[in-house]
Amino acid sequence: MLNEELWQTALSEIELFISKANFITWFKNTEIVSNENGVVIISVPNGFAKEWLENKYNAYISRALRNVQPDIKKVSCIIATPKENKPIPRREPMVDAIVAPRSYDQKNQEKKPFTINLENNLNQKYTFENFIVGGNNELAHAACVAVSQNLGKIYNPLFIYGGVGLGKTHLIQSIGNEILRKDASFKVKYITSERFTSNLIDALQNQKINEFKEYYQKIDILIIDDIQFISGKEKTQEEFFHIFNYLYQLNKQIVLSSDRPPKAIQILEERLRSRFEGGMIADVSKPDLETRMAILQKKVADESLEISQEALNFIAANVTNNIRELEGALNRLIVSAQLTKKEITLDFATNQLSELISSGKKKGITHKHIFKAVSSFYDISIDDLILKNRKKEVVRPRQVAMYLMRNELQFSYPGIGEKLGGRDHSTAIHAFEKISKNMLTDQGLFEEITQIREQLYKIE
Ligand code: ADP
Ligand code: MG
Repeated sequence: MLNEELWQTALSEIELFISKANFITWFKNTEIVSNENGVVIISVPNGFAKEWLENKYNAYISRALRNVQPDIKKVSCIIATPKENKPIPRREPMVDAIVAPRSYDQKNQEKKPFTINLENNLNQKYTFENFIVGGNNELAHAACVAVSQNLGKIYNPLFIYGGVGLGKTHLIQSIGNEILRKDASFKVKYITSERFTSNLIDALQNQKINEFKEYYQKIDILIIDDIQFISGKEKTQEEFFHIFNYLYQLNKQIVLSSDRPPKAIQILEERLRSRFEGGMIADVSKPDLETRMAILQKKVADESLEISQEALNFIAANVTNNIRELEGALNRLIVSAQLTKKEITLDFATNQLSELISSGKKKGITHKHIFKAVSSFYDISIDDLILKNRKKEVVRPRQVAMYLMRNELQFSYPGIGEKLGGRDHSTAIHAFEKISKNMLTDQGLFEEITQIREQLYKIE
């Protein structure tokens, strides 16, 4: 093997272990200048680099070189001015996120005993039974169920992608749990790609790479979560590619999840990308209101929680980003209700979750902004909105304005009444409760409020 090739291979492994900044700083302008009788000499541009490579990184370098050429016994550095400003010899650029776990750098070569976790790693709470199907996840759910019934046969690999907290982990683990429920003898392995990478590094460090491969080759269904993190990790990609092919040709099932589709994963070897695209790809997106409501209701029913319908409506209407936040909001309410020994009413929910939900006050939004946004949305004058005017077409806009004052700015009910032409606080309560409730069933109203809110948060 040519010196340049040897060094390039070694560097792509070393890169797995140290931070990007260190890698660039210390390995720039280095090359193997000789490789004879088991002694490798690396040229480095200056004394600092020599010291670092010989002291701090010597073990990494030796190991990486020996992985390619086992008879290497000694590595040393000489200082040499490079002929040209040679870039680090590597095939692809790096990204930050791929930096090997810091702990390796910090612990500086501290050896850990090598073990491969034999467990399937599944969390039994993730099942198809407690997964709510909505328009946002219908396809992904159907694909996962189908895979659990026809392992390795219909969709291989199955690739599920979507934003955080939208149920990817839940779905892909459900496949594993479902399979084991039917036949406990199946070898199911769930692992995140970060874990996979760090196990691989352990195996490499401990010369256990063959055990590592054999372990993965025995699996019937391999589920890898957050595969996007193998981006830029050449060695991980290479090993994974071989494991993938091995399992694939034996018709073993492979399931992957990612926060983006294969096309959008950067620094991914083309051969892997095309494997990922070779099976079934399904996405999960944000849940609609109905699905959010169903998820909350299921959780409340399953755990026999005491919570008013209005409070649930409030959460579903306001926590819209993802399901993890939705569950988080519910949990927060339950905990604070227990602590304060209060019932979870709409008011309690509004107060407790105000910080979580609305940042109106922080953004400098005032009731005047609300009046302006509401009146322009419904095309009425601000006077009509505020003053005592019983025209039918202003009733709803006025209630929406009251709702927003409470919801976005945490106005008190008397405060709302006062700003709206000196109305009684009971009018404000009525408006808030009515809109909160109707939003759940009246999709049109929900859309209106969503749009007004968007308008509102544009005002900085
Ligand atoms: P992701 O992996 O996409 O980031 P998770 O699978 O971890 O998201 O989901 C976040 C939380 O939301 C988990 O507690 C999960 O059980 C729950 N969850 C997500 N989608 C659903 C759903 N459709 N029905 C019930 N719970 C869900
Ligand atoms: Mg996840």
